[in-house]
Amino acid sequence: MQQKTLFGHPIGLFILFFTELWERFSFYGMRAILVLYLTAAATGDNPGLGWDNASALELYGTYTMFVYLMSIPGGILADRWLGQKKSVMLGGLLIILGQFVLAIDSITAFYTGLVLIISGVGALKPNISTMVGGLYRAGDIRRDSGFTIFYIGINIGAFSAPLLVGYFGEVIDWHLGFSLAGFGMILGQIVYVWGGKYLQGIGESPKRSAEHKEVMAKPLSKIEKERMVVLLLSFLIMIVFWAAYEQAGGFMNLYAKQVVDREVFGYEIPASFLQSLHAFYVIILGVPMAAFWLWWKRKGYEASAIFKMGFGTIVMGLGFMALVGAAYEVSVMALEKASLYWLLLSYLLHVVGELSSSPVALSFITKLAPAKYASFSMGAYFAVTGLGNKLAGIIGEQAEKSGPLEVFLGVSIFCFLFGALLLVFVKRLKLLTHGAEEDTDE
Ligand code: GLN
Repeated sequence: MQQKTLFGHPIGLFILFFTELWERFSFYGMRAILVLYLTAAATGDNPGLGWDNASALELYGTYTMFVYLMSIPGGILADRWLGQKKSVMLGGLLIILGQFVLAIDSITAFYTGLVLIISGVGALKPNISTMVGGLYRAGDIRRDSGFTIFYIGINIGAFSAPLLVGYFGEVIDWHLGFSLAGFGMILGQIVYVWGGKYLQGIGESPKRSAEHKEVMAKPLSKIEKERMVVLLLSFLIMIVFWAAYEQAGGFMNLYAKQVVDREVFGYEIPASFLQSLHAFYVIILGVPMAAFWLWWKRKGYEASAIFKMGFGTIVMGLGFMALVGAAYEVSVMALEKASLYWLLLSYLLHVVGELSSSPVALSFITKLAPAKYASFSMGAYFAVTGLGNKLAGIIGEQAEKSGPLEVFLGVSIFCFLFGALLLVFVKRLKLLTHGAEEDTDE
């Protein structure tokens, strides 16, 4: 394991940071224009495909679900055959290819491009996250903060992409937008190849040796099995978290556009700008939140990953309570529009919840998963977030029918209940982790 550090972390972390930044730039850039491209009129200056809203949203939901579900085969590919390092490389190449195929103006190219991107993200996303964990030895106290830094990189990509790819795609040419996303991924790939020297020994291919076969064939020990049980239970709760969070791109996007008063100092903020708000909050709050949790832990309070995930889900519930405030203004107080402050407050709470659970979950997985299922477990987590995405779409459809007030309240209560469930069982679940979270240098 290489020893050189930057800001107290292995240099490899920053290689993975920039690679993932550009992968997310490409992913969120594409995501920002997908529905707009599908629904844009098929004739005119910058023609789209001319689909209706419902079909476009359906494809969007299926796409975002598959992109994450493919993390399972992506993880298995790394565990069994390629190792994480090569899988990330392969994933990056598939994404680049996919984005440029999308840049071709034909419906066959469109579907081929989507399939390539889905496969590419599946091979890249879980495995690059597992590699971050591989930079730290068991018990290294820097692991959680390493994941926070990595998460900030993700969100720099997620913040800038809708603005840049959105602008070039929507205003100039959709296909230019897609290829810009492809150029982003090329940059990521260049950083990754150049930085390979800082990643020696991390995520290498499992040797097709008798030893590797033996490790893969050996059944899990009792401790390993119990750790897997904790992981799977915590994943179930995270479905609720992501189903709430991912409203942002779908239903909340429309809600912001149609119901929220977005006028500030006489200027109306475009609804799509609010799509960058979560990522903006993550960039601003990532370091203070990590510092807060460290302080909390040093004070001797409960600071296990399970606790933080439960806490994060409850704060997500509070975020939806703020939206209840917005819906109340419109449906009960009969104001024409809901105040923007509710949305700003709600998204802030979503991100406090996110920073308490999401980077923490990634780090937790790399501590708990048995070696032979390292990438598979990460893939399973992303698959769960994919199901959360799909569920978010279903909830959004429901909100369209039954009205937002009831749905916001319902989501909020669900988050409170599921978050509380984790908090209630935190001690028992911790026992089942068999000390996997103990730091050695404290
Ligand atoms: N926003 C984060 C990312 O893009 C988390 C997504 C997720 O876990 N589904 O990586």
